Order: sequence, then structure tokens, then C-alpha cells
Amino acid sequence: MYENMPFVLYVDMDYFYAACEEARHKELKGKPLVVGTAPESEKLRGVVQTANYEARKYGIHSGMPNIKAFDLYKELNYLHSDEEHYEEVSRGIMKLLKESGRPVEVISVDEAAMDITGLSENEALELAKRIKSDILKGFGLTCTIGIGNGKAFAKMASDKAKPDGLMLVRAQDLKNFLKSCSLEKLPGVGAKTFERLKEMHIETIEQLAAKDPMVLIDAFGSAGKELYMLANGIDESKVVENSEILSIGRETTLKSPVSTVEEAMPALRDLTKQVMKEVEKNGFLFKNIGAKVRYTDFSISVKSYSLHNYTNSEDEVIKRIVPMIASLLKNGPARKVGVRVSHLIKTKGQKKLF
Ligand SMILES: [Mg+2]
Repeated sequence: MYENMPFVLYVDMDYFYAACEEARHKELKGKPLVVGTAPESEKLRGVVQTANYEARKYGIHSGMPNIKAFDLYKELNYLHSDEEHYEEVSRGIMKLLKESGRPVEVISVDEAAMDITGLSENEALELAKRIKSDILKGFGLTCTIGIGNGKAFAKMASDKAKPDGLMLVRAQDLKNFLKSCSLEKLPGVGAKTFERLKEMHIETIEQLAAKDPMVLIDAFGSAGKELYMLANGIDESKVVENSEILSIGRETTLKSPVSTVEEAMPALRDLTKQVMKEVEKNGFLFKNIGAKVRYTDFSISVKSYSLHNYTNSEDEVIKRIVPMIASLLKNGPARKVGVRVSHLIKTKGQKKLF
């Protein structure tokens, strides 16, 4: 039953944004800290992006308005998020993981899955310990690693072992492990699906596993089959090797708020130039172009456009970004704009896959 399921090592960085800040502001280590969307001078206006564990003890969590966080703890340390820095740290970590020579799928800025099929359980644990110590030494950051037969179960193990943990789910223990996890921890069960399942009187992974799969397929389509398989300990999805860089973006705060795309043009041209420089340096082609604005009330909107073919044309970015920013500005004036390209592939120096 397990032969089609890859043996997977899943790395999830602990409270990544805040941890990156602790690593370069040693004086903040061990103190409650949040990283948020608003600049320090207007910190009561934005939202929390990441809270470290000391801040979480006060009930502070990501997505919470800053004003609420400061309500919960007045002496809270606050920093404006510096996504360029976090992306740079992330690239270093992903590069380190790829040096293992094994296929690595970069899932997000702070998560990655590695295919370790062929390793024994003890070898996997040794490798995980080495990765944890290399990341700590190289970046001053802790991570949690989950290991299991299947990407989904390795991720669930890392969720369970947070922070700074290591957990291996042995093949013979997978059923019991699943029983010990709450239903919303199963990958694919988001808030909506969770509510739907509850209406169907399914509140645990065990109940989901025992359900007639046809009923689940009726309710959720192919996602229903997936849920049934996962609940029964089957995950055949492959680790898909990709670039350690998922996207390249730049954003800038404007001297004064803009209401039209014409006013934003100098900034957009400059940001596009910066993005293209990074694209060229890495030898990338991209397929997706994204626009972002932060309005004067600190809310954020994004839009993106998918091209039919990969490109590295600056003109193409400008051509697509202008109507997207124009449309976003219809909702109000912006004080920050951003340009991003994603769905990247390498044009040169690409490692062979086989
Ligand atoms: Mg994380």
C-alpha cells in the first residue's frame, strides 16, 4: 500500500517573518514581537503578519489588527514587514535544502518538501537533525520537520511538532497518527469544507475515513475522493522539484498617495526595472504578472495576469501591469504599489532532473 507513496521530509520554518527579525535584532530575542503591514510610525493601523511564540502567549496571532494586539499586550515589540529580506533568507534556506541532491519542492516562502524515498527511518531522522542544525547555524533560525509516507502526512507531522520539533510518523503508526489529528488539520480541509463536512455529521478524520466515498465525491467532486484517500492514509502526490524562487516582486511606498495610474507610472517603471534585473540575474522566464496596491487605509488588493507563454520581456510586464493598477486604483488612492512576476522557469544553468 505504501509503495506508491513517496517518503517525504517536510520542513516548516517557525514563525518565519518574526524569526528573521529576531535573527538580525538580537535584542528582541525572547521578547513578544510581531511583524505587521503598517510602518512603525503608524503601527496601530495595520494587521499582524507573524507573531513570535512569546507574543502568541498573549493570544496574539497573524491576521489580527495591530490595535487589538497592542490591546492584548501594551509592551509589544513591533516591526514593519520587510518581505524582500525574508525572501532572501528563504532563498538561502531552499538552496541549502537542494544541496542534499534530493528533489525539493518549494511550497511557500517558509515551507518545503523533500523526497527521501529509499532512506530508512533512521537515516531520515539523521538527515532531519542535520538539516535543523545547518539551518540554525547558517541562518540563526529554527524549523520543524515532519517525516512520513506522503507529503500530506509529513506536513501534518510538522504541524504537530511545532516549534523547533522533529516528528517521524512510522508507516505502521499512520492510522493512529491520523486519529490523533483534528479534522481541520487534514490538507484540503479549509474553513468551507470543514463546515460542509460538519453538516454531513463528519467531525473527525476517523468519521471521514469510514464514510462512503461516493457520498464524498457527490458533495465535493474529485476533491472528495482526495479527502477520502487522505483520511485513509493514502497520499500518492509527488514531490515536484521547482526553483527555490517562487516569485520576484518589488514594492515601494509613494511620496504622496496616487489616484491614477499615470501618477503611479514613474514608480511602476522603476519597480519593473528592478524586478527585471533580478529575473535576468537568475536567468528566469515567467508566465504570471502580479500587481499590488496598499490603499491609504492600509488594506491591500492584488491582481494577476497569466500569459500563454513564458517570457522575460519588460514591455510585456508594463503592458499588463498598467490596466491592473488602473483597475485597483478605482477602489481608492494608494500609498504603496508593487510589481511581481511568478511561475518561474530557468533558461540557463538548470540542473538536470534525471
Ligand atoms: Mg511556517
